[in-house]
Amino acid sequence: MTGEQIFVSHAPADLELVQELFSTVKNFPFGVHIALEEVESGRSRKRLEGRLANSDLVVAVLTAESAKSQWINQEIGYALAKGIPVLPLYESGDLRGGFVTEIEGVTLDRENLSFTVFNLLCRLRAELAPLGALSVPNWYIRFPCTLADCGHPVTLELEEGQTKLWKRYEHGQLLDVSCEVCESTYYFDPATIGFVRREGGI
Ligand SMILES: [Zn+2]
Repeated sequence: MTGEQIFVSHAPADLELVQELFSTVKNFPFGVHIALEEVESGRSRKRLEGRLANSDLVVAVLTAESAKSQWINQEIGYALAKGIPVLPLYESGDLRGGFVTEIEGVTLDRENLSFTVFNLLCRLRAELAPLGALSVPNWYIRFPCTLADCGHPVTLELEEGQTKLWKRYEHGQLLDVSCEVCESTYYFDPATIGFVRREGGI
């Protein structure tokens, strides 16, 4: 599980929502390409086809807004034609028009984005896991220690499966990892793998 590329197809009006949903997903060691961010960096949306063609998975965010956008169906159709799996993320199942009607996806619950992100991570772990090398079976995030003058790389490994992570979330048990050099401890939300706080350190 390193170096895989995910393309996120979504309506322009949903950019903020998409950024929120993928903010922690982006910390994992694979590429997350959000369509509108790529467009804002000067490309035209039409020219994202190259990006799409090189993706391992396309996540299609289906909302009332996306139903009005011509791009989503085009990008889904393009991905499927290239044999790239499409994971729909939808507010309600009936938004799965056209190509993905039959595909079971992730339900978007705006009132409970933690649960939505958790479910998204479940599916991503299931879809991308077989691509990972056997020597690194676990999902992980790696970041430089943020204590002043430390900067040592810290790795949080997800040793538990998604079911156990959700139980931890329900019991309010955070994930933690310590920096080997300065002994700062970092805490993460087990549902979203979002950073919560740092404690200690020399
Ligand atoms: Zn440190």
